[in-house]
Amino acid sequence: MGEVGEIRFRQLFIDGAFRDAASGATLEVIEPATEEVLAEVQAAGAAEVDLAVTAARRAFDDGRWSGLDAGQRARILFEMARILDERRGAIAPIESRDAGKTLFDSGKIEIPFAAELLRYYGGWATKLHGQTSLNKPGTLLYTLRQPVGVVGAIVPWNFPLLMAMWKVAPALAAGCTVVLKPAELTPLSALELADIAREAGLPDGVLNVIPGLGSVAGQALVEHPGVDKIAFTGSTAVGQQVMRTAAGSLKRLSLELGGKSANIVFADADVDAAVKTALTGIFYNKGEVCAAGSRLLVERPIYEQVVEAVTAKAGKLTLGSPLEKTTRMGPLVSAGQLERVLGYIEKGKAEGARLCCGGERDTSATGGKGYFVQPTVFADVDPAATIAREEIFGPVLSVIPFEGEAEAVKIANGTAYGLAAAVHTADGARGHRVAQALKAGTVWINTYNMYDPDLPFGGFGESGFGRELGGHALDLYTETKSVWTHLG
Ligand code: NAP
Ligand code: MG
Repeated sequence: MGEVGEIRFRQLFIDGAFRDAASGATLEVIEPATEEVLAEVQAAGAAEVDLAVTAARRAFDDGRWSGLDAGQRARILFEMARILDERRGAIAPIESRDAGKTLFDSGKIEIPFAAELLRYYGGWATKLHGQTSLNKPGTLLYTLRQPVGVVGAIVPWNFPLLMAMWKVAPALAAGCTVVLKPAELTPLSALELADIAREAGLPDGVLNVIPGLGSVAGQALVEHPGVDKIAFTGSTAVGQQVMRTAAGSLKRLSLELGGKSANIVFADADVDAAVKTALTGIFYNKGEVCAAGSRLLVERPIYEQVVEAVTAKAGKLTLGSPLEKTTRMGPLVSAGQLERVLGYIEKGKAEGARLCCGGERDTSATGGKGYFVQPTVFADVDPAATIAREEIFGPVLSVIPFEGEAEAVKIANGTAYGLAAAVHTADGARGHRVAQALKAGTVWINTYNMYDPDLPFGGFGESGFGRELGGHALDLYTETKSVWTHLG
């Protein structure tokens, strides 16, 4: 395997082989903790996108994958899971260095979850059933669920491997072929996935991985007539652009976009537990989480107590190299993201919110280098303020007081997004009542940021549409065909 964390793949993976871009174009992958170049990776242009789509098209049309016995497809997904688990120790440091996430997060949470998804969807491969209907005498009515075809998967940088797997695993289980475009900032783990697929015996052309710029490779993939479906995770602005482009060929489309999720704490809640989840809700992966609990809504009687507790605990989160065991928060992913987050912090101050802790770039633990931002807590945030409405995608929490259930729901729903939300209360009925009233694709009760392969995830409103994970994800990668047979 070579040295732990050694970067072995820097090329495009097309039709079962690693290869250079004809143009010689490359991406410089920067390590956010050191600001140094971690790798130079080949960058796909329109020509390489065309090669990858052509390979995926051929691999789909000749049935080398969709025409296999479903049990055989399942076994290949299980084998990919086994190899991914086996290589966890080598891939986790690569993912951590590339995305600035702690080794605990990449190695103990995200890679195991990615492997679990391969097993979960491997299980589904043999269970994709249609329906039969006996409604009309003299007929046989039934449906078939068939793979949608060539899938273009476009993913962001916050969970590079995991977001790719949310798409690749169900798409492969359904019998689709895939062209995956990782984020330009974080292409390395997707190339590891390509190698794992090859090793596991996935036929050539079934999974292609093409690092490249969104505006070039991503755009070309969405435009390409050989692609049947685009599965996109990213920002709302780019999602809108993708939707406009996909409209040209009426490609199937699913969009997982941004969020401004509300984490609601009622006065009867277990305050210690709520504070703990408020912290993981916003500071997990330095707040670069689409479902981050970036708005903490606290009922008046416990408001000051919660603000104090969250502030005290946030101030103690250790910033540092993602590879250090003691680190609780790594750097933001890029200089651009650093600037964006600091800009929002300035806006928060200017609009009159109370800065309780953080608020600064902090490279004290890393010798002056790295895109680190202190865990930042603003209290008394006006629900109409910029930092309460716009997605910051960084370690910045806006705490907002409320009085009573109706006001909590009103504030929580007062955004264009609708990805996730949480309710903390000791009153079971209230938990479910508020869950029903919230405009969000996922609601957690008395916890935050929990995911299971079996529980669908996706957005309301400007957070996008379509549901990933669970059986629902298979709807994204299959077409339903109705067959009406006249029995005479
Ligand atoms: P982004 O800029 O929207 O990029 C997402 C992906 O789209 C990247 O691979 C990007 O390539 C590509 N892209 C850019 N322009 C494109 C175009 N014109 N056509 C096709 N593809 C294009 O988002 P990001 O900055 O990487 O990620 C942060 C955002 O993702 C946040 O808003 C966050 O909420 C959202 N997100 C949502 C979820 C969810 O499940 N709902 C999960 C994670 C993240 P480049 O890398 O070259 O820009
Ligand atoms: Mg981008």
